[in-house]
Amino acid sequence: MDLLGKSLEELRALAVSLGEPDYRGAQLYHSLYAERQLDLARMTVLPAPLRRRLAAEASVELPRVARRHESVDRSVRYLLALGPAPESGASHSPAPTAIETVFMPSEDRQTICVSTQAGCAVNCRFCLTATLGLVRNLTAGEILTQVLVALAENATRLAPRTNVVYMGQGEPLLNYDATLQATRILLDPAGMALAPRRVTLSTSGILPGIDRLAGERVRPKLAISLNASNDEQRSRLMPINRKYPLGELLAACRRYPLRSWERLTFEYVLLGGCNDSPDDARRVARLLSSLRAKVNLIPWNPGELPYRIPEPGAVEEFRRALLGRGVPVFVRDSRGRDVMAACGQLASIEQAAALPAHVPSS
Ligand code: SF4
Repeated sequence: MDLLGKSLEELRALAVSLGEPDYRGAQLYHSLYAERQLDLARMTVLPAPLRRRLAAEASVELPRVARRHESVDRSVRYLLALGPAPESGASHSPAPTAIETVFMPSEDRQTICVSTQAGCAVNCRFCLTATLGLVRNLTAGEILTQVLVALAENATRLAPRTNVVYMGQGEPLLNYDATLQATRILLDPAGMALAPRRVTLSTSGILPGIDRLAGERVRPKLAISLNASNDEQRSRLMPINRKYPLGELLAACRRYPLRSWERLTFEYVLLGGCNDSPDDARRVARLLSSLRAKVNLIPWNPGELPYRIPEPGAVEEFRRALLGRGVPVFVRDSRGRDVMAACGQLASIEQAAALPAHVPSS
């Protein structure tokens, strides 16, 4: 039994099932997530017989760091080897699942870009992950473990604050329960104690997931991957738009209950000559006019896909056009381009080689 990803209630119940008082479960929860102590033998708050029993009946499964690529900008892309899907029952199968996680340090914080699925079935045309298809959903423990491994690997250079963004491989709202379970532990003051504004979930626009998220008491910030200014263009770039078109997506955004400090983030990958014209900018401003929103412009990162990097002049013109219409906008300089860690690049050749047979994307 993997302890990582278990909630406070689950660990309390585990303690009781082992004949211990339930507060032992709370101590285990605190050790795992607040202290980030992942070695059962060193959880000295627990009595030695319980530690031995836990070590015999449970484990804290950490992925193997299969590759580590450090960028000139000091961000690091990790290729992590997970075990096979837990339900397969073959926990020691030699064929691991590979995922990628990116650690991005800056002066006062680190941002950890986390995968929620291995591969992805959504099939956005500008994203290398889509070429892998969906391999499988990650468990809550496998989502959390990426944060823990990235923090442990960089322990000597950690800044005081940590941001977590669900922007790695996968569509988080298509792995809803595990993503939310991991989020509750990240945001729990008794768990990893991140502030709600420090965890962001980015979606391609899965409407039922957005509506469900709206009803959660504990939830991350929401970002929508927009990338187009009309339905025809968006359906071409993001086939998911045929199922959840822009009008319905923006209606879901309008009814989404923002907290007083919160804005919706719209991400817009600028593809040279494709979606970066002044007309696109005007249409985007119109689409977002009734929303409390900001836009992150992400000039496309070169990869193996047939798109062009936008001209610097086009990026600036796009930015000014949005700003001039009252839409807050930021140009995001992707980190780790040289090690294929940037937005849309997360599907390395080595990962494709390491992956077991997968379900092809539609
Ligand atoms: S951009 Fe996100 S949702 Fe789209 S294919 Fe890539 S990983 Fe999946």
